[in-house]
Amino acid sequence: MQLVDKSYQIQGLPVIELCKKYGLPLFVYDGQRIEEQYHRLSDAFDVPKIRFHYACKALSNVSILRLIRALGAGVDVVSIGEILLALQAGFQPDDIMYTPSSVSIAEYEEAMKHSVRINVDNLERLEYFGQHFPDQPICIRINPHIMAGGNKKISVGHIDSKFGISIHQIGRIRELVDQYKISVEGLHMHTGSDILDVDVFLAATDVLFAAAREFPEISFIDFGSGFKVKYRVDDNETNIELFGQEMSRKFRKYCHEVGKELQLIFEPGKFLVSEAGYFFVKTNLVKHTTSTVFAGVDSGFNHLIRPMFYDAHHEIENISNPTGLPKIYSVVGYICETDTFAWNRKIPEIREGDILVFRNAGAYSFQMASNYNSRLIPAEVLIYQGQDYLIRERQDFDDLIRHQTDPEIPFIPR
Ligand SMILES: *Cc1c(COP(=O)(O)O)cnc(C)c1O
Repeated sequence: MQLVDKSYQIQGLPVIELCKKYGLPLFVYDGQRIEEQYHRLSDAFDVPKIRFHYACKALSNVSILRLIRALGAGVDVVSIGEILLALQAGFQPDDIMYTPSSVSIAEYEEAMKHSVRINVDNLERLEYFGQHFPDQPICIRINPHIMAGGNKKISVGHIDSKFGISIHQIGRIRELVDQYKISVEGLHMHTGSDILDVDVFLAATDVLFAAAREFPEISFIDFGSGFKVKYRVDDNETNIELFGQEMSRKFRKYCHEVGKELQLIFEPGKFLVSEAGYFFVKTNLVKHTTSTVFAGVDSGFNHLIRPMFYDAHHEIENISNPTGLPKIYSVVGYICETDTFAWNRKIPEIREGDILVFRNAGAYSFQMASNYNSRLIPAEVLIYQGQDYLIRERQDFDDLIRHQTDPEIPFIPR
């Protein structure tokens, strides 16, 4: 989004016009930005075999999946719903890696019916696969026990994390694999979101390389994701170019040592889509109290929960008054609970009716929306090659009532 002649544009389209056309609140995605991020990532690495599996829980609209498939990526899914969405978007089963956590045996078996790749993260199910489906190729998720990630909610590789099989249980994995002749096709790790320190990530990779030596049969190593993007203008982000160089060197060296050309896989979610997303809302009320000026908008944590859930920072702009005199506002939602998007933020003067935009609304934003307070889930628009496309309709009341059976139980008035 760029400021051109005092008005914000995405790929040359004035965003105010998009808001008028589709109504508010509204999620808009810049397809070009997703493509740029993908190319930045793929250009950063220099190994013969590399592949990116988009972690689609970040943003799983089928049109977004189709765009990412067109770039040549595969997809990482965590549920049957995501498997079906990926198939709907045209991904081949081979390009779909199913990485669930604490799911039922029935769900694994349903995933198998779709012939997707299976990533197992516990010894219990590994043994089950060995006993019942020894021919099913399996990827194994290892927990390297490296504390990485921006905060504990999004760190999944530390010692008491529920994810993955502990690196200290490698011996037991090997035993089960040998006992049941399980075909292990790859090893996997994913240590969490928002990794800033390239060295910490590389340390975790050393742990996984060491584990991989125990499994000479594998054909790929999947290092998950956690690439950090900028949320503030002066934020740090993962130095992807440096990381790509270091990682490629390490990976080539490892392949050389074991005498086998392995495939290197990453699973970026946030990195591909976070900065491509914009969430537009309308200011319902500018409220002056004795201490604070509140800008109350027609949204809340029912649409964008990251600020409340993760204390995430989202830049806010006033697109109706981009060059107005900055003042201090607390931006709050309309949910009947505390739902503060931002405390005491400097924003160009906000007047009732002004349209505000939250940046970085591509990843884990729309996807975490709910119907809390019986509010409706907004529409989504994708901009591609300078054209805007409605990729999801706004909900209406029918959506709230659709699965309620309302059987008119004869309640007795008392
Ligand atoms: C969520 C997730 C990712 C993506 O993480 P980002 O921080 O969005 O890049 C990758 N792999 C797995 C297994 C995940 O659960």
